[in-house]
Amino acid sequence: MELSEAILYRTESVGKSYHFGEAQNPSLPAQHWFQQSTDGLTLFIVFYSQACRWSKCLGCNLPSKMSQFHVPFDKLMKQVDYVFDYVVSEENRSEIRKVIVSNNGSILDEDTFSSTALFYFIAKMNMTCPSAKTLCIETRPEYVDIEELEILARVLKEGETHTQLEIAVGFEAFDDDLRNQVFFKGLTIRSFEELAEKLAQHQFKLKTYFMLKPVPGMTEAEAIEDIVSGIEYLSAIAKKYDIEINMHLNPTYAAYGTPLEKAFNEGTFSPPKLQSIQQILLSARDKGISIFVGLYDEGLAVPGGSCVNDPADKLVAAIERFNECQDYDLLLL
Ligand code: SF4
Repeated sequence: MELSEAILYRTESVGKSYHFGEAQNPSLPAQHWFQQSTDGLTLFIVFYSQACRWSKCLGCNLPSKMSQFHVPFDKLMKQVDYVFDYVVSEENRSEIRKVIVSNNGSILDEDTFSSTALFYFIAKMNMTCPSAKTLCIETRPEYVDIEELEILARVLKEGETHTQLEIAVGFEAFDDDLRNQVFFKGLTIRSFEELAEKLAQHQFKLKTYFMLKPVPGMTEAEAIEDIVSGIEYLSAIAKKYDIEINMHLNPTYAAYGTPLEKAFNEGTFSPPKLQSIQQILLSARDKGISIFVGLYDEGLAVPGGSCVNDPADKLVAAIERFNECQDYDLLLL
């Protein structure tokens, strides 16, 4: 079966009905934005490529922004040019401290994202962003080839600032059954720990995406408990392997074209409460990991289906400030 057919098959096999983003101009990235984190000004780029080969995770419609079909390397290189010609400017280029690269799937899967384009991107980043201290690459663990990372890390050292490599993987839910039998993540604890050990040996950093309340039918208390257990676990892994770990916590939204949209309409899924995020964050003090809460739904939620209904809510502002400085006292509202 062709990869494009396999992607469609896997998408439909778990009841997802979204279409892929074939209308997108392949010479332009799918999305980009700036955010503030403890690392400073962070540029997040989502390149437009062939969709995630896995495509099965229950509440995820990120592949809907991508193509079902192969996007060749020259188009991806044009997207890189666009980033450095139009997104990175004279004014912000020395302010950028971190760059996160994504294709809503696995940047290190060379069948969906060209290695030529990745090295081209790093070369341009070295030339254009003199203060970038971290390059974060999103991928599933099965595409991490440590020899490839060593070469990437060597190239990253050649810029004006020594840029450290961070690998970001989706973990989504701590509970094994929830993660693999209900959410269909396809991630074992063993493969995660092997990845952590390998990254630690090379002093690379690890970012892990978790989802708060990822499936229908979970109570608020169960959702909180799962993430609190995840924090305890990551804290232990950070100590065991002496590795820097960031948890990127995404409050789940009802993503269109997924079973969560249907559950939201039927009343069996409601997005998590901001107060639950507050409670989780307050439990993470002194755990030795950093946490970033992704409140932005990237335009992928159905109306009313995300946890932020009032952007002026003081908890939203407190969480966003917390993202920048990890000051737990800001959350004592
Ligand atoms: S969560 Fe990641 S791995 Fe899972 S389907 Fe979405 S993009 Fe693919």
